Parts: sequence; C-alpha cells; structure tokens
Amino acid sequence: MTNDIRASAQQLAGQDESLVHQKLVAMFRQLPNVLIFTFVATSALAFYFYDHSRELGLWTWWGAMQLVSLLRLASLIWWRKSHARTDVNWSRVLHVFCASALLVGVLWASFTLAYFSSASASQRMVISLVMSTVAAGSVSVLALVPWVNRVFIALLVGPLVLLFAMAGKSDDLVVAGLGVVLFIGLTGFSRVTGENFVSSVMAAQRQHKKMASVFAQRDELIKAKDELEARVMRQIAALQAEMDLKERYAQELDKIANCDQLTGLLNRAGFDEGLKRMLSAARDRQQVVGMMAIEVLHFDVVELQGSLVSDQVLLAMADRLKHFMPQLSLIASWGGAEFFVAIAQGDIEASETPFWNRYAALVQDVLQQPIDTDAGPICVDVLMGITRYPDLAINNELMFYQSAAAKHNLRKLGVGGIKVFDPHLDASLKDRHQLRQALHKAIEASSLSLAFQPLVPNIKSKPGKMEALLRWQDAEFGQVSPAVFVPIAEESGLILPLGRWVLHSACATATTWPNKTMVCVNVSIHQILSGHLPDDIQSALEDSGLDPSRLEIEITESIFAQDLDFICAVLKAVRELGVGVAIDDFGTGYSSLAYLRRLPADTVKIDRSFIQELDRDAQKFLFSLVTMARGLGFHIVAEGIETEQQRDFLLGLGVDYLQGFLMSKPIAADDALAWLNKLPTDRRGS
Ligand code: C2E
Ligand code: CA
Ligand code: CA
Repeated sequence: MTNDIRASAQQLAGQDESLVHQKLVAMFRQLPNVLIFTFVATSALAFYFYDHSRELGLWTWWGAMQLVSLLRLASLIWWRKSHARTDVNWSRVLHVFCASALLVGVLWASFTLAYFSSASASQRMVISLVMSTVAAGSVSVLALVPWVNRVFIALLVGPLVLLFAMAGKSDDLVVAGLGVVLFIGLTGFSRVTGENFVSSVMAAQRQHKKMASVFAQRDELIKAKDELEARVMRQIAALQAEMDLKERYAQELDKIANCDQLTGLLNRAGFDEGLKRMLSAARDRQQVVGMMAIEVLHFDVVELQGSLVSDQVLLAMADRLKHFMPQLSLIASWGGAEFFVAIAQGDIEASETPFWNRYAALVQDVLQQPIDTDAGPICVDVLMGITRYPDLAINNELMFYQSAAAKHNLRKLGVGGIKVFDPHLDASLKDRHQLRQALHKAIEASSLSLAFQPLVPNIKSKPGKMEALLRWQDAEFGQVSPAVFVPIAEESGLILPLGRWVLHSACATATTWPNKTMVCVNVSIHQILSGHLPDDIQSALEDSGLDPSRLEIEITESIFAQDLDFICAVLKAVRELGVGVAIDDFGTGYSSLAYLRRLPADTVKIDRSFIQELDRDAQKFLFSLVTMARGLGFHIVAEGIETEQQRDFLLGLGVDYLQGFLMSKPIAADDALAWLNKLPTDRRGS
C-alpha cells in the first residue's frame, strides 16, 4: 500500500504540476507561523546569549535570520497574489521555497556551531530545546519535500549530536544518542506526513477527476438532451406544419364536399348533415327548428339575360341570406334557383304558424329587394314552403318533404308567397302521388276514354261541334275528373303522350260523324311549349284522314302568362294546317286586349262562371265581353248553359254556339253518333 502510494507520488512528482502547486499551498499556509516563531525564537536566543564578547556575531546572525525571513515574507505576499496563475513554473517556486528553508537551516546550524562550545549547561539546554522544536516544527512545513526536510532536520539536530558526542561525558553521550533518536523519529514522521499528504492529494485528485468526468458526462448528457429536445421540437414543428396542412386540406375537401360551388353555401350533403345535428341538439334543448324551402319564381326569365346575370342574382340572394339569418342557421343551395334555410328557435311562439309566417315575410322582403346586376336592377319574386320540428316533421326526410310540399302547393298556383305546411295538404299530395301512379298504369293499359259534349250553333247553317273530354274510370279511385288528373299528367309530363292519344282518338271518332261536324280538342300548355303540337296534329289528321277544317283546338286563357311569342308561333303553325283555335275559359285570365289582338285564334269560349248567376251586373259584364270579342272578330261560344233563361239571354247577345247540360251532358263516344243523327240535318253541319 505504502509502496503504491510512493510510486504514484513519484509519478505525480515527476509529471504533475498540480501536485507541486498543492504542496506549495500547504507550505505557504504554514509560513506565517514559521516566520513569527523564527522571529520570536531568534530574538529570544540573541537576548539570552547576549554579552559584549559576542555582540557583533550575535547581531549579524540575528540580522541574517531576519533578512531571510523578510525575503520569505515577500515570497508569501507574492504567492497570495499569484497562486491562481497558470503561467508560473510552480516547481521552480518550490525549489526557491526549499532553498530558503535550507538557508534558514544553515543559519540555525551556524548558531549551534558558533555558541554551543562556549555555552553554559543551561544555555546548551536552551539551544537543544530550540533546535529540537524548530526541527520538529519543520515537519509540518517541509515533510512534503522529504529530502529537504531530512537535510533541514539534519542541519538542526546534526551539530548538536556531534558537539554533545565530542564533549565525551556520559550524560552528553546520552543526549547525543537522544539527538540521533530524535533525528530518526522526525524523519520518520516527515516521511509518513509527506506520504499522507500525497495520498490525500491523490485521493482528492482522483475524486476531482471523477467529479470532472461526472461533470463532463453530465455536460454531455445535457448537450445530448438539448440536442434531442431541439430535434424533438423541430419534429414537433414539422409535425404541426403537416397537421396544419392536413387540416387545411381537410377543410378544403370538406368545403368541396359540403358546399355549393357558386354561392359557397352548404350543398345538399352539408345541409343534410347540419340539419341532423340541429334536430338532435333541438331535441336536447327543447327547441323548435324551422326549415324554409325558398324558390325564385320564373327564374327562367332571369336566365334569359345570360348566365352572368343569373349568377349575380343568385349570389346576391345567397349574400342577403347569410347576412340576414342568425349565426347558427343552416343556409344551402345546390344548383337552380332554390335555397334552403334551417333555424333553431327557443321561443315558445316558434311552435306556432303565425311566427313562421312573420319570420318568412321578413326573409321574403329581404330577398325581393332590387338586385344590382350587369343588366340593371332586377327584382325577383320568391315562394317559400315552411315546416317545423317537432310538431310537423320529426326527421330530416320529413323536413325536406314537407317544406317542398308546401312550396309545391304555391308553385302550382303560379304565385309567390309563403306557406307553412299543413297536414291536409299532405293528404292531398299523397292522393296525388297515388293518382299519378294509377294514371301511369291507365295510360299503359289504354283504359282512358273520350266523351263528347255537343256545341249547338245558334243558326242552322253553322256546322255542329263536339268537344272531346277525357274520361278515366279507375278500379280503385272510380270516375276521376279530368280537372283533377289533367294537372297531374301535366306535372309528370304524361300529358304529352296523353294529349297525342286524345288528338288521334278524337280525329278518328270525328271521321264517323256526319260531314262538317267539327271536333274540339282541349290542348295543354305543355303540349304547346313542347313545340311538337303542329306535328302531332298533322299526324292525327293524316292517320284519321279527317279534314283539318273539322278540327279545332282549345287552349286556356292562362297560357298568356307564358312566353307569348313562342305560343303565337305555334298557334300560327296550327292554323296554317287549316285547324281552328279557340280560347277556352275566356274572361277568367288576365288577358289584355293587346294580347287578344295578337293571338292567332278564331273563337273564344266564355267561361261558365260568368253565366252561372245572371244578375244585372253579370248581364252587363257578359254584354261587354261579347261586344269586345265580336269587335276583335272572334266567334263566341257560351259554355255551362244549364237553364233556358241562360240559353235565351246568350242567344239574345248573339253568341255563335251554346254548350251546356241544357243541350247535352258529355256523351260516350259510342253514343255521340246516335246523338248527332237525332239532330235535324241542318244542325249537324252536313
Ligand atoms: P273545359 O274545357 O272547360 O270543359 C268543360 C267542362 O265543363 C267539362 O268538365 C264539362 O263536363 C263541364 N260542363 C259542360 N257543360 C256544363 C254545364 O252546363 N254545367 C256544368 N256544371 N259543367 C258543364 P270535365 O269533363 O270535367 O272537364 C274539365 C276540364 O278538364 C275541361 O274543362 C278541360 O279543361 C279539361 N280537359 C278535359 N279533357 C281534356 C283533354 O283531353 N285534354 C286537356 N288538356 N284537358 C282536358
Ligand atoms: Ca274546353
Ligand atoms: Ca271551359
């Protein structure tokens, strides 16, 4: 163990400046004590040994001692300032320190050598005591440089041992022997103290190294941790950026999937989804949800101005809805001039129809304000079908169905306005739906037929006429009036094949009648607007071989609301075939004189409603109606004649034909010929 320490001490002594520095730290720490002790001891000795014969030698010795002490004091001051410097060769400083110590040792030895021989016994005791004390004390300072300490102890103890031994007395020899023992003991202490110091310095250094490596490791770990953190932060930032991007893409996709391209409002899918959520929230919060289906009336007229203008109108309407509706409402549009709005309301009032009528009136007012477009300001009329959750509709499907049904009801009337769904409407709608299905089957099975109602002329010379009237006897619904099923056929487009069949069938039947007897066929506006009417008429005439002059078509006055130029062109083409045109239900529509003048028609049929109650006012009105029609060059038919009084009055006005139950109810096709044959020859138009 001791060898190990010594070996490593040597190793350190050879290479480790820091060990030298450590030694200097310990040695300089003791130096103040050494200097004080030296001053006191040298002064005491000089004083004790003072006499005239020794005056010069003593003071020289004392002075030399103090001079060396002063130099050592200077070195101490320098050390205190410079001990932390790194540019100092500490081995050299140690050498200087040791040299100064050895110089002090030499001075102490010189005192012994100079004054021992002439000293008294007690003085010799004092010298021995002082030298032993200094030698013992040196261990605490010089043990760190063992050979210097050994030389120092030898310088102090050696002369004493020598001088006592040379004295030759047995007592002196004992003291000399004790001096040798003292030398051996002190050098032993010095060695062990030096080794202890080295081993503790080494332990401290090992500890220091260990700490340094621990700190280095800690620093490395901190660095690695910082780097890791930085990497994690970078990755988190990258991840965040990716997530943001993903979120943006998702939002874009969501927008594409759930929004209308033109208006940016919700589309069908988005609205459906939103409405589901709204209804379920309303269920939890006991709210009422109102849904409005809004349609622009006659949007096709706006579309005629070009797609730019119609888009401007739709965008402006979407914008107004966005601004007007409360924040959480759902607003949708998916092509066409239709909007859907759903709002949740907590008010008790919201479960009542008047509330929604008032609300819708506000929306309607907002939408019907003039819209600035490239074609100038445009005003649109809107119609709104409304339903509400939970008392009318209980789910999405019913909300859609009922609001559309209420709107449909208005559209059928051809007017704008607001209608809250009512369950009676639903019943009639359902009936209509079933009727539509049955009508399909009836057309496929050719189970429809025609009845004919005579139009009797006022004078014998005119040809008789028979109006063809559709009849449908259904197994389930019984006899269905054309007033009910013709509009259904119009809605579903069935009217086109049906109308074609009526034309063919009526013309074919008419060929069996006496010559010149005309057949009148009711024609729907849809047939006219389809553009195929002249062709259909021609093919019916060709197929039956009926003379065109024996066919007349009847169109209702309500068609004037449509595109008049186009209608006029079609009717002109019909007349060019040699076929007559009559305006049915004359007086009920809004036709102005200007319209009537333009219309390529030969005949007007005064509506039954003007004839039913023939009070004075009605008589005046009929008089002016007939006068006007005649003034425009029309032939005049009065329909719905049920009484002789009606017949006589109208004959008095000079109408050309009379039609009504008084003359005959509509008769089955098979009986029509028999009826005509019963007429006097000149009434049949032959
Ligand atoms: P409309 O053209 O005004 O036909 C006359 C309607 O008045 C017929 O009813 C006829 O039965 C009824 N009527 C005739 N005289 C009298 C009378 O003195 N008193 C009363 N109360 N009614 C009388 P109908 O057959 O029910 O036809 C109703 C409507 O159905 C027709 O009105 C016509 O607009 C339409 N319609 C009938 N057949 C056809 C058709 O083949 N094609 C098209 N597009 N519509 C048709
Ligand atoms: Ca008619
Ligand atoms: Ca009529």
